[in-house]
Amino acid sequence: MTSLDDLPLRADLVGRVPYGAPQLDVPVRLNVNENAFPIADVVVDDVVASVRDAIAGVHRYPDREFTELREAFADYLGHGLGAASIWAANGSNEVLQHVLQAFGGPGRTLLSFAPTYSMYPLLAQGVGAAYVAEPRAADFTLDAATVVEAIERHDPDLVFLCAPNNPTGTPLGLDVVEAACAAARGIVLVDEAYAEFAHDRSRTALALLPRFERLVVSRTMSKAFAFAGVRVGYLAADPAVVDALRLVRLPYHLSALTQAAALAALRHAPTMLARVDELREQRDRIVGELAGLGFEPYPSDANFVLFGGVSDPRAAFEALLADGVLVRDVGIPRTLRVTAGTPEETDAFLASVARLAPAARP
Ligand code: PMP
Repeated sequence: MTSLDDLPLRADLVGRVPYGAPQLDVPVRLNVNENAFPIADVVVDDVVASVRDAIAGVHRYPDREFTELREAFADYLGHGLGAASIWAANGSNEVLQHVLQAFGGPGRTLLSFAPTYSMYPLLAQGVGAAYVAEPRAADFTLDAATVVEAIERHDPDLVFLCAPNNPTGTPLGLDVVEAACAAARGIVLVDEAYAEFAHDRSRTALALLPRFERLVVSRTMSKAFAFAGVRVGYLAADPAVVDALRLVRLPYHLSALTQAAALAALRHAPTMLARVDELREQRDRIVGELAGLGFEPYPSDANFVLFGGVSDPRAAFEALLADGVLVRDVGIPRTLRVTAGTPEETDAFLASVARLAPAARP
């Protein structure tokens, strides 16, 4: 046995901490923005049948180009996209990693706007790229002037805009994306992991793809499609960007089983999106009820809500956990983040949080 300190680790990784949201076995898990609903039986049956067919052929490597799946994603996204504009990998984390491997790397810089998705700095670090984070406004919104000014100052090779933003839920105007694309010489990636949960689903950066050849829009099946455990993410971009990603992916990175399962689930998109509508209702209910309790929820276009007015987030987290409700302390002072659950899970969260409510205190 040796210890990490004794290993010849890359100098830039020394002292780093891995990604690690707790995975606790409690009744109500609302901490990592999963889809609260298991996938419907009809979808399960179709996925199982497709995986069963695929397993008969696994003595061969899978289609390295996952052509059928790319066609299915293009159809799902619409906006006139074809398979040549689509890329996919094992979760959108891996999609983002491919983008950083191709366009980041040592001596290059990724710019984003904090607080934002905690994996961006880790992914940049992993490829030896620098990460710079400029602050959002106090209410976590982001405007075009802030983004353009930061791009001019840092001259980044990549800009990541999370829309809606994790962990705050904040929507992003398309004018901001347009301004970023006009100002940046490098890649502008809009991370739309939670796009299907938006109040206005038509507001997507996909609409801007024909105008900006360095714009990349990433999505995931982990959230709207309740497929977090399968690991499928994807992106849409100019076909030349997709060619660049082929240079860095491992051969056959998407298994035959993953491709079959994803294709089957995509055939049921309307069923999956009906569930998304129920989660949007719970999200809006959480915002309304938290405000009524005297907390300060931030507007959210995602399947989670960040709320302020929490005098001691650590103590509140523990009190909720004692009631069997797991939420996330994302390190923003006086806030906690909660994922929208099933109606019953949301009831449990709201009942527990009501006991901590500012308005309930003497
Ligand atoms: N982007 C954002 C903003 C996320 O919140 C997440 C997951 N929490 C991801 C990307 C990655 O998700 P996955 O790898 O499951 O697609």
